[in-house]
Amino acid sequence: MPIDLQAPLSLADPEIAAQIAFEAERQHDGLEMIASENFVSRAVLEATGTVFTNKYAEGYPGKRYYGGCEFADVIENIARDRARRIFGADHVNVQPHSGSQANAAAYMTLIQTGDTILGLDLAHGGHLTHGHKLNFSGKLYRIVPYQVSRETERINYDELEAIARRENPKVIVGGGSAYPRVWDFERMRSIADAVGAYLMVDMAHFAGLVAGGVHPSPVPHAHMVTTTTHKTLRGPRSGMAMCKAEFAQGLDRSVFPGQQGGPLMHVVAAKAVAFQEALQPEFHTYSQQTVNNARALAEALRGEGYRIVSGGTDTHLLLVDVFAKGMLGSEAEAALGKAGITVNKNAIPYDTNPPLKPSGVRFGTPALTTRGMREGEMRRIAGWIAEALTHRADDTCLRAIHKQVSALAEEFPLYGWLRQPVDEREMVLAD
Ligand SMILES: *Cc1c(COP(=O)(O)O)cnc(C)c1O
Repeated sequence: MPIDLQAPLSLADPEIAAQIAFEAERQHDGLEMIASENFVSRAVLEATGTVFTNKYAEGYPGKRYYGGCEFADVIENIARDRARRIFGADHVNVQPHSGSQANAAAYMTLIQTGDTILGLDLAHGGHLTHGHKLNFSGKLYRIVPYQVSRETERINYDELEAIARRENPKVIVGGGSAYPRVWDFERMRSIADAVGAYLMVDMAHFAGLVAGGVHPSPVPHAHMVTTTTHKTLRGPRSGMAMCKAEFAQGLDRSVFPGQQGGPLMHVVAAKAVAFQEALQPEFHTYSQQTVNNARALAEALRGEGYRIVSGGTDTHLLLVDVFAKGMLGSEAEAALGKAGITVNKNAIPYDTNPPLKPSGVRFGTPALTTRGMREGEMRRIAGWIAEALTHRADDTCLRAIHKQVSALAEEFPLYGWLRQPVDEREMVLAD
């Protein structure tokens, strides 16, 4: 078959096009409650799928290793300026391909291999890149974990300070993937100063809440701040790093050539578009609603008899101890999936069950809030969650809940313009 370079995807590769269409339908039809996911705007989606995917732009604006970067330079400068305006950082690097690569570059800037990193234990809400033994972080650096307190399930800063004084870390890392409470960045900085360590905050999860002004900002306190751009920040799947002026040159060198080659300029363009959205007053409203929704969901689930880890949430996510109600997180995840509610199983602090069959489920509200859902919808959804978990072995019941879930989803349409052409293409294929 000759390659037709002008053919639209639907004709060039119907097999792949069909799966993309199914995915758009899946995203529309279900309730996306994975705390690290969101739905980007049409504008962000469009920017991601552009001719910048063709462009090599190794280096930085004005100092590239390739010709033809005049438009790439404009885009990267705009992205950096907007990010600086959102977060008030001295310096921003918008090139990291992902949150993990932003972290790799951040460590490379601040410390040497073999140095000690003090990070939140993965089993207590941390992240792989904060020191899992199979991750680069655990292999290149000496990792000392800190944990949340058994009673409050929150970080005990006195204990963190005691560990820091004992272990002499070069970097203290704040932030995580399943910690539902705000962090005390000021206290963390004073602990770091007391032991001569740098403070690095990985705000991958809550960056959008910081941008929206509903979560304290780590930027004034931390030497280095890293993030993803696709979680609460609602941009394309990617990363970013920010730092104090003294680390600017080091950070840029650590990203390129330290960790990466050419930046993904189509994704940098999409980041710029997302940052413009985050600068609008509506983004504050969105972020506040995301947090209000998480609180409403936590309260409603508590009303259904579920134990919420740490007693609630300050952010967009909550951890629910389903083992206390007699099931594993994996069982709960599977049952909710059948009911059209997408979540992930998650370890809870001091979990007595293994990581693949943990005791908890993590719920997040960023994606549903983007669709326009509010507290009333959260309470209805909590009712379905409780019903689905009670009847987790009853497929008929789970199917019946899925019907109600789909009806609610239909009231908050997603990517309507993408769903229309599915029919058109089917007509073309049927010809
Ligand atoms: C999601 C996340 C990351 C990594 O992001 P990727 O883009 O998947 O590499 C890093 N740190 C934290 C705390 C995260 O939650």
